[in-house]
Amino acid sequence: MMDSIFRKANAQTLDYIFPQHCVLCGSIVSAVSWSPAPLCASCERTLEFIKGPRCKHCGRELISELEYCMDCRNLQTSLTHIIPIFSFRGNAASLIHAFKTGQRISLARYFAYRISMLDELVGNISTSICLVPVPPRPEKLKLGQFDQVGTIAESLIEYGYHYKKMLLRLSGSSQQKLLDRASRLKNASLSYTLLSEKKTMERIILLDDVCTTGATLEACARLLMQNGNEVAGAIVLAAD
Ligand SMILES: [Zn+2]
Ligand SMILES: [Zn+2]
Repeated sequence: MMDSIFRKANAQTLDYIFPQHCVLCGSIVSAVSWSPAPLCASCERTLEFIKGPRCKHCGRELISELEYCMDCRNLQTSLTHIIPIFSFRGNAASLIHAFKTGQRISLARYFAYRISMLDELVGNISTSICLVPVPPRPEKLKLGQFDQVGTIAESLIEYGYHYKKMLLRLSGSSQQKLLDRASRLKNASLSYTLLSEKKTMERIILLDDVCTTGATLEACARLLMQNGNEVAGAIVLAAD
């Protein structure tokens, strides 16, 4: 118990020591719309935002393709409309890394701000949309690490959204990192379950941090859909 408290405090130390210092350049952050998140306006402009046109499935930027990127053209999936905010590289990747490792948890405020600015969401604020965060590995929480996606969902309340925790990640489920696409989907389907059989009448938008092949989101969407829910899409911080 003491050990987990210590780890938690230790992981969050940078937010305590440098509450107003930009996580990327270290300068003091003056008034920004996402205050009090530790990111200055100049560094924000260097982030690798994904600009349209986007692939209708994975949300990555299209170069010369139409509607779907080469990877998604022949995919058969239950989930469509994944919207990543950033490409997972450069300063955007450093920012997400500082957040995921728990060093700068207050960045949740910035990510919530950016999500609320998505064209795909603006104008859609209503009780008919419900955000459903992809849950963390239970082992992670036992180690005293925080539920980063849940924290962003919580921060989005301030922007008029609401969320429901509808999924559970099973303990002992293996990590996705080293698997190929087919194995990832199989592994992901075995890793999640529904928290309850109760469905929602609202349209669900899944929320996650980094999307690589989309297998986790696909598995979560299938679970929710099989139970009679409508899943309208997913928002992720970045596409790797
Ligand atoms: Zn900065
Ligand atoms: Zn695509």
